[in-house]
Amino acid sequence: MNTVDAAFSQTYAEARAKFLHAAVAAGLAVQTHGLDLPGRDGEALATDVARLGPRDARTLLVISSGCHGVEGFCGSGVQIALLRDPAWHAAAAAAGVALLYVHALNPWGFSWWRRSTQENVDLNRNFVDFGQPLPVNAGYRALHHALLPPRWPPPQEAEEAISAFIATQGLRSFQQAVSGGQHEEAEGLFFGGHAPCWSHRTWRSVLREHGRHCGHLAWIDLHTGLGPAGHGERILCCRDDDGAWARARAWWGDGITSIDDGSSVSARLSGMAFEAVHEECAQALYTGIAIEYGTLPMQDVLQALRADQWLQNHPDAPDTLRQAIKCQMRDAFHVDTTEWKEAVVRQAREAALQAVQGLGRAEG
Ligand SMILES: [Zn+2]
Repeated sequence: MNTVDAAFSQTYAEARAKFLHAAVAAGLAVQTHGLDLPGRDGEALATDVARLGPRDARTLLVISSGCHGVEGFCGSGVQIALLRDPAWHAAAAAAGVALLYVHALNPWGFSWWRRSTQENVDLNRNFVDFGQPLPVNAGYRALHHALLPPRWPPPQEAEEAISAFIATQGLRSFQQAVSGGQHEEAEGLFFGGHAPCWSHRTWRSVLREHGRHCGHLAWIDLHTGLGPAGHGERILCCRDDDGAWARARAWWGDGITSIDDGSSVSARLSGMAFEAVHEECAQALYTGIAIEYGTLPMQDVLQALRADQWLQNHPDAPDTLRQAIKCQMRDAFHVDTTEWKEAVVRQAREAALQAVQGLGRAEG
C-alpha cells in the first residue's frame, strides 16, 4: 500500500488508532475528550487533540477533521499523512508556528457514517446565538416533507414537488433552502439545533485551552461533498472584519471563495463553527478557511443525505436497505481511490504550508 493510501481508514476506530499512534510517534502531546456513547462497532468515541509546539507560541495553526462526521474519513487521512511527514513539521517549527490537530470534531457521526451529530445537529449550523430568535428558513419548511417522505425510496410525488421547486425558484435557491440550515425540524436535514450540542461545547473547550495564548490563529477545517471530484475549494471561514479577507488571499491565493458573495459552491450558512474562534480567542487575529473537496455530483450527495435522514427516522427499516443507504452515504463523502486521496493530501499540505508561512511572516 502506498503511503497516502495507508493514512486513510475504513472505520472510525481504525482512523482514531492511526491518528493516536502517528501523533505519539511524532512526539506530540495528546488530549482526549471522550463521548459517553458507543460507536458503531462498540468502540470508544472521542475528539482527540494533538499539539506540536509550546503552549505560549505566538502563532497557532489548527487543522481539524470530522466536523461533519462521515466527512472525517477525508480529514483524518490528511491529518495522519501530515503527522507522518517530518519535513512538514520541520517547516512549521522553522516558522515558529505551533500546530494543533483536532481529530473527529463529531466522532459519533464519523463512527456511524452520518453527517450530523448524535443530537441530529449539523455542527456547522449550531453556533447561533440561542438567546436570540433563531433564523427562519421558509424554503426548508416548504420542502421538508418532500425531502423526507414517509417511504423510501421516495414516492414520485415527492420528487415532483422538489422538481417543481427547482423549476420555479432555481437550483441555487433550492440548495440554499435545503442546506442553509434550519431550526424547526429536529428530525430534518441540516438541523442547526435548539442548544449547543456536545461537539459544539467540546470545540469551545479546545479553543479555550489551546487558543488563548497566541496573537495569531489560523484554522483549516477539512470537509467533503461539494464541488468537482478531488478539487479542494478554499472557502473563507472567518468574519471579514479585521483584514481577514486580504490576509486569506495573501496566504492562500486569489482562488479563495466566500459563501457571502456567491463565489463558493456552498450556500450561505448561519451558525458556523468559526464564530466560536472569534468568541473564545478574541485576543488573536484570526484567519480561517474550510477546504471543501468534491466527491459526487450535488444531486447524488443530496439523495444520500435524504436517504440517511429517512433511515435515522425509521429505525425499523430492513437491513438490506439500511446497508445500501450507509454505503451510499459513505460514497457521497469519501472517494476510495488512490488518485482522490493523493489529490486531497497534496492540496491540504500546500494550504497548511501557506498558512504556516503566512503566520510566520505576520509574526516575524
Ligand atoms: Zn462538511
